[in-house]
Amino acid sequence: MDLFEHQARELFEEYGILVPRGEVTDSPKEAREMARRLGGRVVVKAQVKTGGRGKAGGVKLAADPAATELTARQILGMDIKGHTVGKVMLAQPVDIDREFYVSYVLDRAAGRFLAIASAEGGMEIEEVAATRPEAVARIPVDPAEGVTAAKAAHIAEAAGLPPQAVDILVRLWEVLVREDAVLVEVNPLVRTARGQILALDGKVTLDDNARFRQARWGEEGAAHDDSLEAAAAAKGLNYVKLDGEVGIIGNGAGLVMSTLDVVAGCGARPANFLDIGGGASAQIMADGLSVILSDPAVKSVFVNVFGGITACDAVADGIVQALATVQLTKPLVVRLDGNNAARGRAILDGRAHPLVQQATTMDGAARRAADLANAA
Ligand code: ADP
Ligand code: MG
Repeated sequence: MDLFEHQARELFEEYGILVPRGEVTDSPKEAREMARRLGGRVVVKAQVKTGGRGKAGGVKLAADPAATELTARQILGMDIKGHTVGKVMLAQPVDIDREFYVSYVLDRAAGRFLAIASAEGGMEIEEVAATRPEAVARIPVDPAEGVTAAKAAHIAEAAGLPPQAVDILVRLWEVLVREDAVLVEVNPLVRTARGQILALDGKVTLDDNARFRQARWGEEGAAHDDSLEAAAAAKGLNYVKLDGEVGIIGNGAGLVMSTLDVVAGCGARPANFLDIGGGASAQIMADGLSVILSDPAVKSVFVNVFGGITACDAVADGIVQALATVQLTKPLVVRLDGNNAARGRAILDGRAHPLVQQATTMDGAARRAADLANAA
């Protein structure tokens, strides 16, 4: 589970990491009052669980309380990569001398954590990492040893961070361990003109397996900031929003994951995925399709089902019945294989919906769906 920036900031504060003063609201009028309390000028920041808010226009400086109200009005409700902005955080503006990047991330393959740090943090960090990887230090952290002062000094030195960052690296590690996080990221960590080190942005991902002992985030933390994710959860569907254009429905986590890879291999990006699990009843199909089709980013939909316990003819019946209740607005590519595949295909052929196409292989279907999305 990802935390919102304002929640991450709350944690940082608890662990003694300096952050700018800030307040959160969903009301432009209240934002105006808050700006007054915070000293007039504030940075208005969209609270969505996705990065790149600055580039998307979700982080803006407002010169006074009146401008804050206007800016908050503008940012609230904004769509950032498919996430609707429900709240803004107002933060005191900081006079930035230099921006750094620091994070700890679980490296599952290595069975360790990785400290990633750079003296060239800020909104271009991805670009820096891609073009000049030597500017980004990557230091393995043994979870049993953790980040001691000596380890932190090593990380800071490798990345070219100022000496004051050492203490912050130790505290961030404490956040990770005590809060059961699998990712803690600060970008940017800044040095102010007066030499203070502050965390200006924060991303924390908690380990869902530890949710039982992290009850504090219960209500708000579990809340979906994507309204479609919330709608899907309410219908008991496993739906995850991604950033691309091809909607994906499949049965079983393994098949769905490999479907994402195959679509990506065909030069398109998955817009989302929905795992219909073992039961592909008409109702589940209709619910699933309506969720996927309501995502405006979706340009084509790929239904990839391998019939096992779930028979393909039942899935095809489900699709046909779904077509009666859901208005299909985008091309649907269906690949049915496995148990009763031939009967399933015949059912879909019989329905002969102009926007529904069938493919016999997963690769073929993925290519068709990718081409349709890219052509749209
Ligand atoms: P994101 O990473 O989602 O784009 P950030 O919170 O990192 O959002 O904000 C983007 C940029 O805005 C930062 O790199 C920083 O330069 C600037 N910024 C953010 N918060 C403040 C602040 N309180 N004072 C001054 N500048 C800020
Ligand atoms: Mg940032």
